[in-house]
Amino acid sequence: MALERTFSIIKPDAVRRNLIGKIIAKFEEAGLRPIALKKIHMTRAQAEGFYGVHKDRPFFGELVEQMIASPVVVQVLEGEGAILKNREVMGATNPANAADGTIRKEFALSIGENSVHGSDAPETAAEEIKFFFNDDEIVG
Ligand code: UDP
Repeated sequence: MALERTFSIIKPDAVRRNLIGKIIAKFEEAGLRPIALKKIHMTRAQAEGFYGVHKDRPFFGELVEQMIASPVVVQVLEGEGAILKNREVMGATNPANAADGTIRKEFALSIGENSVHGSDAPETAAEEIKFFFNDDEIVG
């Protein structure tokens, strides 16, 4: 399997509940290494741009409000098959369907406030990393 990079957000609901360390521990235990990491308070423009693919979905407005309500942690994670591995560690979008041991099963509050974002494919990973990080912020 190839060494890959993926993009991750620890969402406001998890940052508010002091879960940054517990969530990063899950990534590290799965062999995902944070190679870039920062805490930011997303602007409305950033949240709307980042989730632009969902702009016509009924949950878009609420999703944007949740993402800008308080700070998040954005990360680049590197590892063997990192994109799929991250999605496995995250668990299903709806925590009610998430497998035992996953981040969303353990920590998510609801389908909207589900604690983490993770890229779903190589193309989106590359775009999402570029959206939040300059090359000189990534230390592989
Ligand atoms: N979302 C929501 N309601 C839904 C589907 C999605 O509030 O019915 C939110 C949720 O926070 C999710 C995000 O929109 O994480 C992006 O949705 P996507 O389907 O891309 O899920 P993900 O890739 O985050 O698992």
